[in-house]
Amino acid sequence: MSNFMLIVLVLITGVLTAGTQTFDQYFHRKTLRYDYIHSGTRNKEQIKPGKLISEPYWGGSLTQLIDTFGFGRYHFNLRDAKSGTLIYSRGFSTLFVEWQDTEEAKTKRKGFRESIVMPFPKDDAVLEIYRRDKKNVLHLIFSDKIHPGKEKIMTRGVPSWEKRDIAVHGDPAEKLDIVFLAEGYTADDMHLFWDDCRKFAGYLTGAAPYGEVSESINFRGVGVISDESGVSLPGEKIFRKTGLGASFSTFGSERYLMAEDFQRVRDAAGLVPYDQIFIIVNSDKYGGGGIYNFYATGTRGNKEAGFLLIHEFGHSFAGLADEYYTSEVAVDAFYDLQTEPWEPNITTLIDFERKWKGMLLPGTPVPTPAIPANEQTIGVFEGAGYSARGIYRPYQECTMKSVRYDAFCPVCRRAILQMIRFYSTP
Ligand SMILES: [Zn+2]
Repeated sequence: MSNFMLIVLVLITGVLTAGTQTFDQYFHRKTLRYDYIHSGTRNKEQIKPGKLISEPYWGGSLTQLIDTFGFGRYHFNLRDAKSGTLIYSRGFSTLFVEWQDTEEAKTKRKGFRESIVMPFPKDDAVLEIYRRDKKNVLHLIFSDKIHPGKEKIMTRGVPSWEKRDIAVHGDPAEKLDIVFLAEGYTADDMHLFWDDCRKFAGYLTGAAPYGEVSESINFRGVGVISDESGVSLPGEKIFRKTGLGASFSTFGSERYLMAEDFQRVRDAAGLVPYDQIFIIVNSDKYGGGGIYNFYATGTRGNKEAGFLLIHEFGHSFAGLADEYYTSEVAVDAFYDLQTEPWEPNITTLIDFERKWKGMLLPGTPVPTPAIPANEQTIGVFEGAGYSARGIYRPYQECTMKSVRYDAFCPVCRRAILQMIRFYSTP
């Protein structure tokens, strides 16, 4: 067979028709969680398979099985083993890849407990994990065969924390399902958490564009109980025993607040149907974090709690980049200026066509001067993604640039709406 024929065949067998019929042909309506250890050094990485876990709910769509965004530093495919058909795929980023950019990674090796979720396949399937290089080219770094019928697949053995519906508007398959997890709340604090869930749902739907489509979003809460109240603050030598093990000063950055063990986070989230995870941290200190298709965090007691939620959720849900470029957490040459970044709200102008070029009014100068007359102009403003030069943002101000609640620029709003549609299309 010629190479050409092979390619054609791969294309034909790779096409999956949309529809719940297709879903039911390949999947049970529950979740398969694939746990693994992601370890390595600055230039090396390894994925070591761990447990396979059957979880009772599938919070995702029954029709949007194939990723259409191309976001994230990683990507995974699930193929039907017999036919090779691509039956599910998603992009995501990880804490591991951020750690690789730290000083520690130059001399040490470290492992992170990570996990991906997919609908539960009925037949043998092949999982492939890819990583994007600095040029955004995907490379296969891991593959494994899953035998749902033969393998020992665990059912959940984790503590059954209390779960509550906060605002549920319909079938999880047709809604964006957000789960709030409690972190740093003791049993005595838990009444605060349920109150906070309502407040945080209100912060999200109180901001554009979420408010326009609030009936497309379900909110649920899981009351993870911590032994101690508050959260670890290594900078102040305070270490607390909390349910999810979150800590300020992640990778030495004071305001960066993450939980290193993602499997513990998934243990709690899997108690309800969910698409996206937000961890509400019982602290007054300003801080949070968000990684695409991983999870986001934010503190409850700070006066900027609403901003922290929508900014960090912008990263984890919609894959939005930071639009700021002067900061104590500035990273040297985080983006390759010769490559178009994957995030929808910044550009190096290398491939601006596939970003927001179509939203520019005719005659808008590129780059666009950051002058008062252009305050309401969609343009191409220099300075974004931790770099004052060579990376551009769409608007002078935005929730992804400054501490401003309910101030997403038109490009971020569009990206968020596209993502909500992806999760909520029947
Ligand atoms: Zn923006």
